[in-house]
Amino acid sequence: MTHDTAVSKAREIAINVLGPSAGQNDKAGQFSTDAVKALGEAGLLGLLLTVDFGGSGLSPRTFAAVTATLAEADASVAMVYLMHILGTLAIVTARAGAAQALAPILREIGAGRHLSTLAFSEAGSRSHFWAPISRAYRNGNGVNISAKKSWVTSAGHAHSYVVSALAPEGSGPTDSTLYLVVAETRGLSVAGPWDGLGLRANASAPIALNDCQVPSDFQLTDDGAGFPAMLNVVLPLFSLGSSAVALGLCRAAVAGTTSHLKSAKFEHLGQSLGESLPTLRAQLAAMQIDTDGLSARVDDLVEHLEKPRETTMLRVLETKAAAGDVAISVTSAAMRTCGGAAFSKHLNIERLFRDAHAGAVMAPTGDVLREFIGKSLLGIPLF
Ligand SMILES: Cc1cc2nc3c(=O)[nH]c(=O)nc-3n(C[C@H](O)[C@H](O)[C@H](O)COP(=O)(O)OP(=O)(O)OC[C@H]3O[C@@H](n4cnc5c(N)ncnc54)[C@H](O)[C@@H]3O)c2cc1C
Repeated sequence: MTHDTAVSKAREIAINVLGPSAGQNDKAGQFSTDAVKALGEAGLLGLLLTVDFGGSGLSPRTFAAVTATLAEADASVAMVYLMHILGTLAIVTARAGAAQALAPILREIGAGRHLSTLAFSEAGSRSHFWAPISRAYRNGNGVNISAKKSWVTSAGHAHSYVVSALAPEGSGPTDSTLYLVVAETRGLSVAGPWDGLGLRANASAPIALNDCQVPSDFQLTDDGAGFPAMLNVVLPLFSLGSSAVALGLCRAAVAGTTSHLKSAKFEHLGQSLGESLPTLRAQLAAMQIDTDGLSARVDDLVEHLEKPRETTMLRVLETKAAAGDVAISVTSAAMRTCGGAAFSKHLNIERLFRDAHAGAVMAPTGDVLREFIGKSLLGIPLF
């Protein structure tokens, strides 16, 4: 599969599967198993995996383009996809000792039959995902973990969860280890409903791990090496993917607003809204400018990830922070520009507006990112 084929497959799924059901799934808070099936059949679940595992061996550039394309139609599905790609990344970059045990799971992902996700955030440490409260305890053949994971995208639908916990002998708050916990593990359960303001169809419910046994083969990082894996492996692609979701939302807001300004009429004036009101044209133009600005930021981050340099981590932090703000600003402008029609839910704009608010609160939150950037500019330690 090439970059272009992957993006055109994502577009087909967006048009044929996501578009027709996004509104209904949002209303009902219903996870789309059809979407995951379509992504699997199209070979998109194994996008970044090498061909040895049946993947396509494509790069973060394609991941960003596919994710933005999905988000234009349904940001809930795009977030499910993003979390799956990150879960897969954590599995495929696991320590050498786990490679043999994890190979069948990676082949299932390559075949499009396995959905993964991340379970980092905990009720106790909230958005500070780098400091789990839970701890793994050795049991002779691996570890036992009990944890309250507060939000897990695809909860109850994923086949595996990449779970963080303090390492058995860890002494500091960031001495964590990552483990792979398969869905059928005894003691793992969905611990509550998901009824969010936005991204309502992505099942971001809490999960509980109650004395779950994890064999040593499924320990993804060395003891205490969870923290660097979260920061250096997962965070860069999370920033890219969540910025791509924001970009898709902005593009959908511009398209929805354009269509409304062309089709809604002042019959007494014989003009469309867009023909009649320069203020609305200016708002639409500002939305387009911000959307293209975000697109340039996403391209810049891709370029920094492809050719890492001193400024790469700064771009990782900046891009997610900026994307969260731009998505809220562009979808808010769309709400204002489309007026009562948007407010009364006659258009999909209010779904985009609600979905756009998730990016800024997903960890690392926009506030935390600005705090990290400010501290690093001033030479103050981040943790
Ligand atoms: C739709 C959705 C899907 C999610 N999916 C997942 C998932 O798949 N896996 C997962 O692990 N987690 C997931 N999360 C959890 C998410 O990543 C955050 O951990 C969670 O949203 C934070 O919740 P909180 O507001 O309670 O955090 P709090 O820590 O209580 O934050 C409250 C406020 O304080 C601010 N704040 C906190 N710390 C600082 C600081 N140091 N400096 C400045 N401001 C600060 C925050 O920005 C926020 O505005 C998801 C969340 C959502 C909403």
